[in-house]
Amino acid sequence: MKKLGKYSFGIGDRFAHQGNAQLRALMKAQNGGIEVIPVWNKSNREHGYVHSLPPDTRKEADSAVKDLGYKGDYCVDADHINLGNVEGFIHSSDFFTIDVAGKIGIPASNEDIQAFIASCKSYTGQLNIPNISHPFLVDEDLLKKIAGKFLTAINEAGNIYRFITDRKGAANFVTEISMDEVESPQSPVELFFILKMIANQNIPAQTIAPKFTGRFNKGVDYVGEVSMFAKEFEEDILVIDYAIKEFHLMDNLKLSVHSGSDKFSIYPEIQRILTKYDKGIHVKTAGTTWLEEVIGLAVSGGEALKAAKSIYAQALTRQEELCAPYADVIDIKADQLPSVAEVEGWSSEKYANTLRHIPGHPDYNPNFRQLIHVGYKIAAEMGDYYTDLLKANKVVIGQCVEENLYDRHLKRLFKL
Ligand SMILES: [Zn+2]
Repeated sequence: MKKLGKYSFGIGDRFAHQGNAQLRALMKAQNGGIEVIPVWNKSNREHGYVHSLPPDTRKEADSAVKDLGYKGDYCVDADHINLGNVEGFIHSSDFFTIDVAGKIGIPASNEDIQAFIASCKSYTGQLNIPNISHPFLVDEDLLKKIAGKFLTAINEAGNIYRFITDRKGAANFVTEISMDEVESPQSPVELFFILKMIANQNIPAQTIAPKFTGRFNKGVDYVGEVSMFAKEFEEDILVIDYAIKEFHLMDNLKLSVHSGSDKFSIYPEIQRILTKYDKGIHVKTAGTTWLEEVIGLAVSGGEALKAAKSIYAQALTRQEELCAPYADVIDIKADQLPSVAEVEGWSSEKYANTLRHIPGHPDYNPNFRQLIHVGYKIAAEMGDYYTDLLKANKVVIGQCVEENLYDRHLKRLFKL
């Protein structure tokens, strides 16, 4: 079976021009002694917005690997797929993020629920998970509640997994199960029984993406109680460790943190806990590379700076439309957004400093950053005008992308 390494990084790239720069950042980490496997991820939704197709992501990944003579493992992730859209990703992807968030809370049949509860018999009473100081109290009521929430979703994950297996062969891809795009977080004890369901469905999951406590807004820092996140994250790690042994799951099964880019305030805790237990992680990024493209355009000046200003001007007037699909994962304070006229007068430096994620920098504005984050649709509408500017300014933009991934992300997460 294709097995994912201990550390992996999901690198989203909306317009598929930054594959080389992204790979350079990961190779730099490798030269620093930490192997982080690149996984190019793109969801069906993103493909729809930028009018690209799944094979385009494969082409980008393969050509970056060839250009840089990269010899390590890498994957192409069909991000957040379901039975309705997985078909288009079958040939070009070797990593599938099966998204079953939409099925959470749909009741399963009584028969299925009873069978699940019966399979959990030996875990009722006081459930002690090694290294978690407090026991979990498990009774039939709790199991019923957990089954009521998650059993239909995981059964569906089984259907999708088998669909992919029939087409591709089980040995040829990595499976992730995601349930992060929901309102309420899954608790560690819920995660334990979700993993039991995954085992019952015989899904060889290698990564699992729960919804964590706190807000994981797009492109900006974590919002929430860092200590609460750390406690939950640590318990999740221990739950997975125990579940692997108890349920005979894949021995490399690890957590996947979605919208993981730019969550700088929790990186030290993630780093500490992974080191403490010697565990791996998958971190997904998406918009952070797109934001660096816009920063690179601003830094380049001239026509490129004009385009960056135009993206903001249009995003500001179409704020409602652009934000709607991301309502749950952005928080923009409208009164803290600069006017179009103000931005019109900005230098390259001022624009870049406003957008670049340097917490504490006097010019940094997370509201501006989040609005540009959802504004990639405007760049897509610019068509060749936008992508020609990417080509013309590729050196400067590539430096921004590489520096962001390496210096601000990989270095912090892996203590390089
Ligand atoms: Zn996600």
